[in-house]
Amino acid sequence: MPRALEVALIDVGGTLWPNSWPIRKADAAGRRLRIRAAMQGVEAAAVETLADDLIESSRPGDEARTISTENQVSIDSPAETLIAGCLGRCGLPADTDTIRRLRRAMSIPVSDRMQPLPGAVDLLAELCRLGIRNVIASNTYWRDADSYWEDFRLLGMAEHIDGIVTSVDAGHLKPHPAVFEAAMRWAGTTADRCVVIGNREENDIAPALTLGMWTILVHPDDPKPAASRAHAVAPDLWACAQAVRDMLGSQ
Ligand SMILES: [Mg+2]
Repeated sequence: MPRALEVALIDVGGTLWPNSWPIRKADAAGRRLRIRAAMQGVEAAAVETLADDLIESSRPGDEARTISTENQVSIDSPAETLIAGCLGRCGLPADTDTIRRLRRAMSIPVSDRMQPLPGAVDLLAELCRLGIRNVIASNTYWRDADSYWEDFRLLGMAEHIDGIVTSVDAGHLKPHPAVFEAAMRWAGTTADRCVVIGNREENDIAPALTLGMWTILVHPDDPKPAASRAHAVAPDLWACAQAVRDMLGSQ
């Protein structure tokens, strides 16, 4: 007899919130304040030079993320590499702890500009009601799991989220299977009890199928896909919840 679904591995950009990340000039001021807080004990002038370099070096990636959070600029230059380069140019040590503090400082907090996509909170709540645990499985640039927890608390989504694994935490970007494997390990379950919910065929559906997981391709913020190998395709997140109910009903 087939086993029941236990865990949903859920993408974020283009799935729970929009594909692109809006930025504005004022974001640099917030970053500067957080960089100062992250670099206490370092001479003020050096911190300002570092902040200038970090903000300027990040501009190409920031601009690319206003179009899509998954873009070549972000893929080619991981945050750790960018930050280590800036620290090196400023003559500051690039140890793991400093890099992590600066990565979090550079992560722009969610706000009124970044709201969940319609039905996102309902989907998470419905999966909980169905007895499924929700684990975020997301490609990110600056964000690790702790940064995301803050975001989801601000957006009123945290109560329906059980765990978070980002590509920063897993050390690889999807479609590498590391994010899904880490999420599955965290949940202590097997691939046949997981359903991956995401908006990208190549990053979400393809690796999930290879691992033997169930899959739902959603397109609440994308054009309707011409084709998909996913077990189900859902135009919005309420249809996605129905697809999960159908999967449970058919088991
Ligand atoms: Mg996505």
